[in-house]
Amino acid sequence: MAKKRIVSGMRPTGRLHLGHIHGALNNWRSLQDDYECFYFIADWHALTSEYADTAIIKETTKDIIIDWISVGLDPEKSVFFIQSSIKEHAELHLIFSMVTPLSWLERNPTYKEQLKEMAQKNLYTYGFLGYPVLQAADILMYKAHGVPVGEDQSPHVELTREIARRFNHFYSNIFPLPEVLLTPEAKILGIDRRKMSKGYDNAIYVSDSKEVVERKVAEMITDPQRARRSDPGRPEYCNVFTFHELYTDREAIKEIDEGCRSATIGCVECKQVMATHLNRALEPLRAKRRELEANPELIDTIIEEGNKKARNIAGRTMNEVREAVRI
Ligand code: SF4
Repeated sequence: MAKKRIVSGMRPTGRLHLGHIHGALNNWRSLQDDYECFYFIADWHALTSEYADTAIIKETTKDIIIDWISVGLDPEKSVFFIQSSIKEHAELHLIFSMVTPLSWLERNPTYKEQLKEMAQKNLYTYGFLGYPVLQAADILMYKAHGVPVGEDQSPHVELTREIARRFNHFYSNIFPLPEVLLTPEAKILGIDRRKMSKGYDNAIYVSDSKEVVERKVAEMITDPQRARRSDPGRPEYCNVFTFHELYTDREAIKEIDEGCRSATIGCVECKQVMATHLNRALEPLRAKRRELEANPELIDTIIEEGNKKARNIAGRTMNEVREAVRI
């Protein structure tokens, strides 16, 4: 039986960090066996916020694909492609923009949130308001069964379903309505306890060296009530402990939990233990990155192959769309 198809993308606006691994990539990796996965670099989406200086988009596109492969996404199992290489996305976006009522976009909750979150950029543009319409084109182009997203992105999938319904109603029943495949949440925060983000300068990156990881971990904010070494701590309020739960073995976690509560272990030592475990987990990823960086043609070939597969499907979908719209 043919596998169901899923589609998801990432904006190339910086290197990937541990938040991306736990918020999306671990899930993407596990979906590879059960679904036909299309993962794309959303470079046109990156333009919505990076339009004034586009250098970062080019710089990070291949870098992100290297990170994907380093964390275990497999180009033999999944299709990796670049959004802007499949021009059909722009055409479908344009057609969808004709049928999408403005009020659907204006009431989109993530639109308002992102305007606030990225207040340092002027996002009052036509392109940024229409960003969910482009997302709908990205998803529906491949007639995806589902879209793996975090809770905060699920309104966009709902909007995609509404756009598909409206298109199908006006023209022809071309597009299936995609499902939300909710990503299991693993909340890890940045070193300052805010959401891990490049913009907050608080992220630990997949490509950080051992020394950089050690330095960042040493700077991490711990349980705010543990001001002195002799104060008992509360692991459940400590971001370092959250990292232990993800990277340290069970036995050691138990000891740290007890040591923290009884103040027999200090935060400096606790962080050193965590950094060692984190570095141990990141070392195979770094080794894979070194191997891929030494072979840039391989990444180019992976992208070309993926683009070809995506373009084939996109071409077929657009033939149906043009016929249905009669244009
Ligand atoms: S000992 Fe570890 S878990 Fe406890 S507050 Fe310090 S860093 Fe956090």
